[in-house]
Amino acid sequence: MAFGNAEMKPAPFDYHRPATLEEALALLERYEGDAKVLAGGQSLIPLMNMRLARPAALIDLERVAGLTGLRFDGDVLHVGAMTRHMEIERSAAVRERIGILSAAMPYVGHLAIRSRGTFGGSLAHADPAAELPALATLFDATFTIAGSGGTREVPWSDFFITFLTSCLEPAEILTGITLTLAPPQAGWSFHEIARRHGDFALAGCAARVELDAEGERIASARVALFGVDATPVRLLEAEPALIGLVSSAAAIADIAAAAAAKLEPATDVHGSTAFRRDIARRLIASGIRDAAAHASSLRTPEKVRA
Ligand SMILES: Cc1cc2nc3c(=O)[nH]c(=O)nc-3n(C[C@H](O)[C@H](O)[C@H](O)COP(=O)(O)OP(=O)(O)OC[C@H]3O[C@@H](n4cnc5c(N)ncnc54)[C@H](O)[C@@H]3O)c2cc1C
Repeated sequence: MAFGNAEMKPAPFDYHRPATLEEALALLERYEGDAKVLAGGQSLIPLMNMRLARPAALIDLERVAGLTGLRFDGDVLHVGAMTRHMEIERSAAVRERIGILSAAMPYVGHLAIRSRGTFGGSLAHADPAAELPALATLFDATFTIAGSGGTREVPWSDFFITFLTSCLEPAEILTGITLTLAPPQAGWSFHEIARRHGDFALAGCAARVELDAEGERIASARVALFGVDATPVRLLEAEPALIGLVSSAAAIADIAAAAAAKLEPATDVHGSTAFRRDIARRLIASGIRDAAAHASSLRTPEKVRA
């Protein structure tokens, strides 16, 4: 089937709707790098309409069996790549066991986008201003990637390469993502600054903090940023320096300032490099403090983990 003519916006392309992963992979091989996988189409179709992408074919994953669903297994959550944003947003289990993911979902575009867009699509698209790639770094995501030669598992640190570029090869398909859950006593915070709700973030910060046995000092901390560099950023260097600090410590602001100074956000119509660094600095400091406050609130037995 061929689509596209002078009246339609995208360049002409072939369309395939395989029923199995093997079939989808064979089609990708057949087009020798000139085909694109179609998930929710919420990023790919606009790019094609603007002729910024002109694939010879779309391989629609909609009907491929085994690519959807959420499955908790001990301390991990498996997410099928084709699981829609809306399913995650509405999942009571996600809200209870990985609340920050529930909290982040409403920031992913608008309702209509989330009803079509997929978890795997957001990650494969690798937009550094997107919320879900940053969360993937916060939960030590492992990406399961299928190719004609078999399946490989890739840690988040090797997955995001640069702006809109992941380690996925043209003939590979992301089939699932595994997130390692935080312990129940971990607090979290999620903040983002955008021009309007639903827009991509100018800058955002997701943080996870555990407190020591006395509930006073930071025992472990993780901080992930989005919209501030060419990939999502985990503050791996800064995180150990937070251990042992009380959440009111002035040192947190210093750590945030030092971490923000190392970021390389682009200057664009929405803000300069300096502006974005400044937002990041503020978000890091408040993100850590808010996550610590949340962890502290979880120590009160009658409080339900939000
Ligand atoms: C107006 C607007 C606002 C938006 N705002 C936000 C926002 O604030 N935050 C945000 O995160 N997103 C936002 N989005 C994007 C939205 O979240 C998309 O759903 C998401 O980026 C891509 O998911 P998708 O399933 O639609 O993927 P598609 O658009 O179908 O695919 C995106 C890319 O990933 C590849 N791909 C998809 N799935 C796979 C797979 N399983 N294996 C290999 N490659 C794959 C495709 O080939 C394509 O290159 C916005 C979109 C629009 C139109």
